[in-house]
Amino acid sequence: MSFSTVTKNELARVVGKDQCCKLAELAALVRMDGALHSERQKAALTVVTENAAAARKVFSLFKDLFGVHTQVLVQRRTRLRKNNLYVVRLPLAGEGEEILERLGVLDGQGRLTAGLKEELVRRDCCRRAYLRGAFLGGGSVNSPEGTYHLEIVTTSRRHARDICRLMGRFGLGARVATRKNWYVVYLKESEQIVDFLNIMGAHTALLDFENVRIYKEMRNQVNRLVNCETANLNKTVDASMRQVENIRLIASTVGLDGLSPGLKQVAEARLNHPDASLRELGEMLEPRVGKSGVNHRLRRLEEIAGRIRARGNRDSHLTSGKDLRPVMK
Ligand SMILES: [Zn+2]
Repeated sequence: MSFSTVTKNELARVVGKDQCCKLAELAALVRMDGALHSERQKAALTVVTENAAAARKVFSLFKDLFGVHTQVLVQRRTRLRKNNLYVVRLPLAGEGEEILERLGVLDGQGRLTAGLKEELVRRDCCRRAYLRGAFLGGGSVNSPEGTYHLEIVTTSRRHARDICRLMGRFGLGARVATRKNWYVVYLKESEQIVDFLNIMGAHTALLDFENVRIYKEMRNQVNRLVNCETANLNKTVDASMRQVENIRLIASTVGLDGLSPGLKQVAEARLNHPDASLRELGEMLEPRVGKSGVNHRLRRLEEIAGRIRARGNRDSHLTSGKDLRPVMK
């Protein structure tokens, strides 16, 4: 089962605090998935969903709020898509119009409304319920293992904006994009998705999401650390190899005896221990030398090797440096 379905199944079990919240949630479900049919005498409101739990919720909200029994039909789809479609059908006789008015589908004059009826979302509890209904009716959320993405898809630009605005009341920076003839309200940031799951009351989904997210972040952090350490290690190995090369060059040209005693000691220690750290090298010396002292001497050796490379084999010219004993005299 996808993370989206698990989340919706959880939300389908969340019941609004008061009647006002239940009405807001049902209004959202009807606006997302509802259609009015008026063929012959069989005027009806249908709410169509792929999610069985959402269909059950629509059924029980109608019963709870208006005391009406809706019919639930299952359309099995076999060819293109495997999911069944659940159709909740409310015949529109008698009090039908009043129900549609209360749900904000019709205005006071019996005309279809374009946007969200503000009365439905006056209270904070109702705004949460409305968003829950909107998500149940047309939302989906990626598993946190993949890219962070949550969306609510609607056919109405106006409704997309309404949803966006409601989410904004909770500090969520949702955006609207178009996809063919659809309007997609979406969130891309993991923190915002977590907040939204919380606002709707999907607490189990929220915990699952957080666990995966934390695990993912830790894994990335560990990878970064490992990469960083590997990079440092490579740098150290490269430096040591260069030092050994320098010392070998000096040994084969002017000879290590031509170096001052301090430099000679470090040169010998490095040749014998190519994998020792600077600190370790310092501890091998007599008297001991700190890390920066060792580093300083190795740099002097590098300068000498550099001069040797620059001047070729005329080592007599090198004996004047203060690091070298004047062996040729
Ligand atoms: Zn409420």
